[in-house]
Amino acid sequence: MQTSFGDLTVVDAHAHFFSHRFFAALAASLPEPPSPLSEDALFDTLGKRLAFELPPKDPVELAKRWVEELDRHGLARSVLIASVPGDEDSVAAAARAFPDRFIPYFMLNPQAPNALERTKRGFRELGMKGLCLFPAMHHFHVWEKEIRPILEEVAASRGVVFVHCGVLKVGVRDKLGLPNRFDLRFANPVDLSGVAQSFDTVPFVVPHFGSGFFRELLLVADECPNLYTDTSSSNAWTSRLPTPLSLAEVFERSLDVLGAERILYGSDSSFFPRGWQKDQFETQVGVLEQLRVTHEQAAAVLGGNLTRLVP
Ligand SMILES: [Zn+2]
Repeated sequence: MQTSFGDLTVVDAHAHFFSHRFFAALAASLPEPPSPLSEDALFDTLGKRLAFELPPKDPVELAKRWVEELDRHGLARSVLIASVPGDEDSVAAAARAFPDRFIPYFMLNPQAPNALERTKRGFRELGMKGLCLFPAMHHFHVWEKEIRPILEEVAASRGVVFVHCGVLKVGVRDKLGLPNRFDLRFANPVDLSGVAQSFDTVPFVVPHFGSGFFRELLLVADECPNLYTDTSSSNAWTSRLPTPLSLAEVFERSLDVLGAERILYGSDSSFFPRGWQKDQFETQVGVLEQLRVTHEQAAAVLGGNLTRLVP
């Protein structure tokens, strides 16, 4: 992609694959789920209320839509996250159809009875590259001993562990009025300190600069060289601090502590017609320019780092 730093290979480290199955799971969790869950019922219940395009049933068709979107903007590749537990087959299909364009990650509730089997199947059979944990959503600490076998499996498969810490907003759930019991007690990056040291070959990615736990992210990153962050979303948490930070200040402190090689550009894109979030990308490139990072540093943040982690 042509940027103010020259022609760079841009890879998005954080995008959600809102598949047909994702929306069906969402509809099924409504207080009065439509029955039967037909195409029309899904559209009536969700499509109108969300003002999103409901995706085609075949995940490969949705993947094609994403390829067009990446091409339109000049992105080389993107992570796609299966964003409801059990939807890994959808992103697997997308990545199988376009192996050069998509890096499949999947959400797992590690406390579910079949969690270890799902992890094994995900990495070994479906070719997943990353496991996504949402401790505040599923109410566990990443250091609990029940989680270890799952992390051992990720380590054996050379996968990435994405751990959502801090404030969690799931826009689609909010729009549908679904209750969220996200518990911040489980969302502190400090929970990762011992775990990241035990699994020192595994890259742990904490998105959105810790989403409010910025100080904690920096402290843990300082002691764990395998801790990464991504730059995704609007980073609205910056305005909720006792002393609000600008995005430039957040980038500057992160560059100081983590270095350019542990910051991954991400967009947090998820649905159509919005598609890839270009404005945020331009804002972030503007911040990198303002901070006068080198061409090499910009190339690392905007794609090189993720390419190194997930060749
Ligand atoms: Zn996200």
